[in-house]
Amino acid sequence: MKGIIFDIKRFAVHDGPGIRTTVFFKGCPLRCLWCHNPESIDPNPVCVRTTALLNGHEFTDEKMVGYEISVDELFIELQKEQVFMDESGGGVTFSGGEPLLQNRFLEEALQQCKNHEMRTAVDTTLFAPWKVVEPVARLADLFLVDLKHMNARVHQEFTGVSNRLILENIRKLSALNVPVRIRIPMIPEISNTTENIAQCIDFLKALPHPVEAVDLLPFHNTAKEKYKRFHLDNHFVDSPSMQKEELFDIRNQFEKAGFEVKIGG
Ligand code: SF4
Repeated sequence: MKGIIFDIKRFAVHDGPGIRTTVFFKGCPLRCLWCHNPESIDPNPVCVRTTALLNGHEFTDEKMVGYEISVDELFIELQKEQVFMDESGGGVTFSGGEPLLQNRFLEEALQQCKNHEMRTAVDTTLFAPWKVVEPVARLADLFLVDLKHMNARVHQEFTGVSNRLILENIRKLSALNVPVRIRIPMIPEISNTTENIAQCIDFLKALPHPVEAVDLLPFHNTAKEKYKRFHLDNHFVDSPSMQKEELFDIRNQFEKAGFEVKIGG
């Protein structure tokens, strides 16, 4: 079985517990205006033209983003860091893009990791039918689930899809008592509003089993250069990155409601 990925990040510390190797899958059904990996959205490898200015001269380059890899080839890569993963309580995180778009490849990769006692996490939007999510839930050790916005209209406006399926899948995962960390991107004036935070807390408190933790992800404008290089529209071109301190109040609200909270991934 082959899949299409666009990167393997080693020694990652923000994609789950311990030291991790993160595999970035190609393809995403969402179109978040703040996406940090816009080159991941197309499910196929794409040739990206980049330009840079040096001493008044423009240099252009073309780079392929995405490549095919088999589960066996991927596993050889993953094993290179297994000793660090084991010693730090880490593992492999399958991220993207949206890994559930390549669910068969994902399932095989998860099974391969399980066979070798390598712990796994799936970083997902959960925007997929339950028949796709459930088999993955039976193989992965942890889900990192994005909760982008509680209001269906706002969710549709800023990500291109409704949140109905996502919320339903979070409830179903919780009913199965699958370990879930919720990741909330804090996007200025979109998700860090009083109303959205209150609704997130109410929704999470009503789940059948408590989530492991809530990660508040401060908005960063670090993808600004990438948008420029790849000639993409950047909705947040003038928005400064958020400071951790700006999220202390929100962290307190979640903590008061009984959640373990981390600022950052
Ligand atoms: S879900 Fe993630 S990868 Fe997909 S568009 Fe949104 S931010 Fe980008």
